[in-house]
Parts: sequence; structure tokens; C-alpha cells
Amino acid sequence: MSVNVGPLAACCDIGGTKALIGFVDPQGRILARDRYLLGSAREPREMVAELADRLHGLASRADIAWERIVGMGYSTAGMMDVESGVIFASPNQGSWRDAPFKSLLGQALGVPSWIEMDANAAALGEAWQGVGVGADYFVYVVVGTGIGAGILVRGEVYRGWRGTAGEIGHTTIDPNGPLCNCGNYGCLEALASGPAIALRARGAILQGRRTAISELAAGGEITAETVVRAAREGDLVAQEILAQAAEYLGIALANIMTLLSPQVIALGGGVMHGAGDLLLEPIRRAVARRCGSWVDLESRRILLSALGEEAGLLGAARLVWKTR
Ligand SMILES: [Zn+2]
Repeated sequence: MSVNVGPLAACCDIGGTKALIGFVDPQGRILARDRYLLGSAREPREMVAELADRLHGLASRADIAWERIVGMGYSTAGMMDVESGVIFASPNQGSWRDAPFKSLLGQALGVPSWIEMDANAAALGEAWQGVGVGADYFVYVVVGTGIGAGILVRGEVYRGWRGTAGEIGHTTIDPNGPLCNCGNYGCLEALASGPAIALRARGAILQGRRTAISELAAGGEITAETVVRAAREGDLVAQEILAQAAEYLGIALANIMTLLSPQVIALGGGVMHGAGDLLLEPIRRAVARRCGSWVDLESRRILLSALGEEAGLLGAARLVWKTR
């Protein structure tokens, strides 16, 4: 099929600070994509209006006739009901409650629309076009500012009662661990997310440990990225912090293996995109140490996401094609 004809899905992946948008054909090819920075807290109707403007602008720049767009897929963080298309609340996107995104998108774009939680969308994208292809039981773990998971059973999202399954970031990994945003102590997210890695680095510096992390930050904020750069340059404190994060992630993945027995676990999100090559083997070793003999790790695979930041975008497009 020529790239100039045929139906297309419009799609977006709305993060904490930026949005990725694009047009994807039924074969999973991204024909055009763009990103933009989200403003501070705004009303859902304004957010959708800006999204529609951006999509129309991208279509016209890419010479894509709007008539080809047959549906819209919307991926974002937040609590939502995907059936009714209502997002109850979305972190970092204003204090609004219970916004009918599915109908707002439909009105603004003139096409049927679907919404999905970001980790679930990433799982759908990776199972469609990435390392989850062919896996009946597949888990995608996002390790970034937060930590979450999308669980797929034969291509369908496992949601649990009231749709709150997959919150692996808020499982307790260390009962004596640090306070988490959720109010609990020792959650995976408080131990191995990007902010948790940065916090450990700041703690090590306050303790007076010898490390180049401060210098690398050059007066700016110490982030997980700074720690990763220091680790790559041989900084022992940075390497120790990443090794700890890998150990905690390994504990969580061993729990996933034991409880759900997926064929493939994919690792994505900002931390894995930035440091996957440093973290993957230590994570695999931690999983191997902790899984019982009945978990056949020869036939189970722990892999880095093949799609990177496009997993969520492709998963959002998949929402459109799944239902046609
Ligand atoms: Zn928590």
C-alpha cells in the first residue's frame, strides 16, 4: 500500500512534561511524528484543543489528508475508565477531576477515540511491534519518573478490579525503605525510579562520599542521568547506586515472574532508555537468584524495549486498529 493512501490512526502519548504525537498506519508504520512541551496545569478542553491543533499542523506538514484519519488513540498517566473514556485524575496535569476525554477528543477531532493508561499503551505497542510480539503472557515495566507495568494476557490488558492492576511501583520491596509518594514505605518506586536514584546520589554526597556526581552536575540539579553519566566514567558511588537500583528491580521482576509467569518482560521508560545496557544484566542476575526452580528462566526472557519512547505512541495507535 502506498504511504499516500489508506486509513491512518492519529495517536499521542502524553507524558508529565511533553507530548509525543503521530500518525500510524494499520501495519504499525509511523508516517509522521512530532513532540511538544505541555504547558502548566490546564483544563482538559484546552489540552484537547491544543492536541487537535498540533495534529492538524503535523498532518499538513507531512502532506497527510485529514480524511484518512479514522480514529484517535490517547495514552497518558492517570486513573481512568477506558470504557467510558473518563480520566478521573492525571498527575502533573492540573487539579481537574472526572474529565470525559473520549468525547472531548471525538468532538475536537471528528473521529472515534480511545484512551489508555500509559503503561498499558506501552505494553500494547511493544506486543504489537516490539519484543512482545508472539508472547501470550507479556509484561511491560516502565522505569522512569514513576514505575508501573502493563500486563497483557493474549493481547488483552489485564486490569483487575476497577482497573488498578499493574501498579508494580507501589509494591513493597523493603519494609524499612524510604517514604514513597503514595504514603507507603519501601515501594519499588521509592527505591529504583529516576528520582529515587537521584535522591540516593544526593544522600551519598551529603554523607561526604568521594564521587564525581556533583562535578558532573556542574551546579545544576543532580538527576538519574547525572548518576548514569558518572557510572559510565567509572565513578564507584554512582555504580553502587545503579547496582542497588538493579537489585531492587530484580526483586520486583522475580516477583512478577513468580506470580504471573510471563514469557517476556520488557523494560522501558526513561531510566531504562538511558541506562538499560548498565542495568539489564544485573537485573537478570538478581531475578535468577530469586526465582524458584519451577520458574524456567531459560524459556523466560527479560529484554529491553525495542521501541523505546515510541512504545506508548504505537500502543495508542493500536487502540484504534484493535477495534476495527
Ligand atoms: Zn508507593
